[in-house]
Amino acid sequence: MPSGQSHTFINLAAYAVLGSVALYVHRQGIFFIGQEDALFFTLGFLVGTVFLSPDLDLAEGHVNSKRAWGFLGALWVPYGLLFSHRGWSHSWLIGPLTRLIYLAVMVAVVTGLLHFLLPSVDWPVTSLAFSWSLALPLLVGYYLSQWLHLIADGVRPDHKMRWKKKRR
Ligand SMILES: [Zn+2]
Repeated sequence: MPSGQSHTFINLAAYAVLGSVALYVHRQGIFFIGQEDALFFTLGFLVGTVFLSPDLDLAEGHVNSKRAWGFLGALWVPYGLLFSHRGWSHSWLIGPLTRLIYLAVMVAVVTGLLHFLLPSVDWPVTSLAFSWSLALPLLVGYYLSQWLHLIADGVRPDHKMRWKKKRR
């Protein structure tokens, strides 16, 4: 199975190819890609590649995507303990979703704590307005980065969806 660095390299190489194709298609007027869509796709893709890799299921040990979080990497240790390596975390639909939900819970806990400990401070992050139309390119970019990881790992799309066949 590829190392963390190889995964990052594969993803960035795929992004470069995809970006070139997108730019060509856009310039030729074949298909129009909005600037904001491209930006949020890129954001989702990079965050998925660097910070939310499926290999966070190894966060109880040392893994690149945990190190990328700096001292916050410790927050992923429970995720690593919760998910066995290459189990549900490496499934195509549920896997990436588990990391998004885990992240959302962490953010909710941290912002809740900050509000509780420092109630007088007006936290700008929580009042950020997010346009839901940008969620789609963000999610597409994120999921694509996850799927490239799974393809490189040799994990098939029906991973965890198959009934275990009885061996004779
Ligand atoms: Zn992996």
